[in-house]
Amino acid sequence: MQGLNQDLPLLLSSILEHGATTFGDVKVIGRYTGENINYDYARMEARARQLASALQRLGYGPNRFIGSLAWNTHRHLELFYAATGVGAALHTANPRLPPAQIAYAINFTGYQTLFVDTDTLTLAEQLAPQLDTVRRYVMMAPAGALPESTLPELLSYEDLLADGDAGFAWPVLDERAACLLCFTSGTTGVPKGALYSHRGTVLNALSTGGGNAWGLSADDAILAIPGFFHCNGWAVPFFGPMYGAKLVLPGRRADSAFLHSLIVEHGITVAPGVPTIFLDLLRHCQETGAGLGRLNRLFSGGTAPPLAMMEAYLRDHGVRTIHGWGMTETTSGATMSFAPHDLPADRALAAMRTQGKPVFGAAIRIVREDGTVLPRDAVTPGHLQVRGHWSAAGYFRRPEVEAMTEDGWLQTGDVATIDPDNTLHLVDRSKDVIKSGGEWISSQALEDAAARHPAVREAAVIAIPHPRWQERPLLIVVQAEPVTEQELLAHLADIVPKWWLPDRVLFVVELPHGPTGKLAKQELRHWLAEGRLNVAAGAP
Ligand code: ADP
Repeated sequence: MQGLNQDLPLLLSSILEHGATTFGDVKVIGRYTGENINYDYARMEARARQLASALQRLGYGPNRFIGSLAWNTHRHLELFYAATGVGAALHTANPRLPPAQIAYAINFTGYQTLFVDTDTLTLAEQLAPQLDTVRRYVMMAPAGALPESTLPELLSYEDLLADGDAGFAWPVLDERAACLLCFTSGTTGVPKGALYSHRGTVLNALSTGGGNAWGLSADDAILAIPGFFHCNGWAVPFFGPMYGAKLVLPGRRADSAFLHSLIVEHGITVAPGVPTIFLDLLRHCQETGAGLGRLNRLFSGGTAPPLAMMEAYLRDHGVRTIHGWGMTETTSGATMSFAPHDLPADRALAAMRTQGKPVFGAAIRIVREDGTVLPRDAVTPGHLQVRGHWSAAGYFRRPEVEAMTEDGWLQTGDVATIDPDNTLHLVDRSKDVIKSGGEWISSQALEDAAARHPAVREAAVIAIPHPRWQERPLLIVVQAEPVTEQELLAHLADIVPKWWLPDRVLFVVELPHGPTGKLAKQELRHWLAEGRLNVAAGAP
């Protein structure tokens, strides 16, 4: 017997339509090169409809790709809805990646139209000779003369939009159709595409934006820091109109003085980002003595946030950290830590340190090498697998990559323990974990412990080969002030088991980072292999 509910597809266009009709006057603010935008969801939807009709006239609809190489602006947001609203899929290329990787992803996908903006035009010009299929570029800039450019065909976004039909109605699409394509950032190899569906993306935004997670409402103002090209900006483009939250778009800028001014001026209540951004912002507040206005929570993703940072935000600013775990393959978050407001600071921090619990719609488990499911006993580490409405079921045009288990779980490449109450503790990436005498040492836990020493600005731990133990940890440190190897080892001895203590500590001026601010450990391993890290001097 079937239920008697209306069978309406879950579509991205319905999110913007909801925002326009229900929260039509809620503000969307944009601050970027030469522009000062102040409009609302009603206006955004009207413009997105016009653009959608123009795209349809250009022949765009289901089974077609459109590309963007752009920062967090209101036009990029309109394009998210317009491209997906006509049934096409938007590939959001990441301008922070090395040009060869961007070209790889665009050529691999193969489409004709690429939307660029004022801050990516030069990059697009540089890339154009390497792009096999792109014939037409659309400049997302204010109306007026187009800049001089070497691009073959450059159209004006505002002209295209002005030609569109304001009476355009969003078509009814298949909710399982593809809508957005993001490539992994390549930290661990060649970028692979995650192709999201309307249904998965809507469910992801509904669940991660809700209670025990971001906890969004019309009382919130969100500062859109994560690039829209990175896991859909962690769903921020959908959160705004879905929950009636004000959105503030910073374009490409992420420097702390600028972000701070937006937070205070626009009453930001929640700021998502990676720990590096939050560390800079904290230092800015410490140096200037400035407060953080209405900000009451950070949403930290991408990598584990340092405990000392979360402690300082809570103590000095009353700002909690919601700590989420996810990957490109899980659309945005899958698990989130949630610390209720009335928890005492020590218990709140203990909760924030974990990667949290799965939100509704995502499930986690850990397995042994041979696939046997391991207990949720808080101590046994295993390979983390994830399943859910918005988790990838495979990689875009890469059927040979064995991402899935036979019983339908996605292998994440992470190692974790899980508590009996389903709280996730990420131990490490499988590739980074140090296997010493058959036991695992977490490079992330060692880095976190080292970073708690006031003389340490940043720390990285990688494995060095060892004749007896197979692998031993090597700690590489950027100093904030002078400190010796012995002092750091004594500090670590108070925090980690003795057999975890690094065999060597090396000091460097700077550590390599990937495009999303994560430590580039592969690069460090190259340094080691090439002899640029001099471990031999006094090796164990
Ligand atoms: P890439 O794999 O190219 O770095 P992703 O952005 O998809 O690109 O990275 C996902 C990975 O980032 C996860 O598999 C995990 O290793 C790491 N990660 C994400 N969130 C956290 C977190 N909260 N704590 C620790 N590691 C995290």
